[in-house]
Amino acid sequence: MKPKAVFLDRDGVINPSVWNEATKAFESPHRVGDFCLNPGAAQAMRDLQKAGFALIVVTNQPSYAKSKKTPLEVITAINDRLAVDLAQEGVVLKAVFTCLHHPESLLPGYGACACRKPSPYFLLQAERWFGIDLCASWMVGDRATDVACAHAAGVKAIRILGQDQARADPKPLAYAQDLRQAATIILQSA
Ligand SMILES: [Mg+2]
Ligand SMILES: [Zn+2]
Repeated sequence: MKPKAVFLDRDGVINPSVWNEATKAFESPHRVGDFCLNPGAAQAMRDLQKAGFALIVVTNQPSYAKSKKTPLEVITAINDRLAVDLAQEGVVLKAVFTCLHHPESLLPGYGACACRKPSPYFLLQAERWFGIDLCASWMVGDRATDVACAHAAGVKAIRILGQDQARADPKPLAYAQDLRQAATIILQSA
């Protein structure tokens, strides 16, 4: 049987997004010290792992491309910290796919790209690289772009409604308060 996966958006799902007073928006953590796991996130991922799901993070991190305010090393360091914190909780990530681009970036090589969500690029790559059965897989994200990405790849979507979001199109299969509740939904349908 082909392996199944839960694709996970990072910010607002595994870790909290962080309020940025300058932009008046919830954003990715811009410093390693601002990163922490959401309560219950590791347990939820452990439960999914035990049920046989590969865990694959798919995240847009355009901060360097947009403003260079977050150095690339910091973006890498936060992803490293994510993997280490989860490993300490017994959670192994199959892959972390990061889009560093932004269509408005003026930096060479960081502009328009194929991989930025809502593009299903990384989900299709996971299918090619790891043989993931997309029809048996799920995506959990907190933005409409995560849901659109899931739909484009033929993956079932759960949207976490946190912090600054309201229900909107495209419609996910289900809404959840947090990753813990999303995992419960996935495990009950598996
Ligand atoms: Mg997010
Ligand atoms: Zn990209």
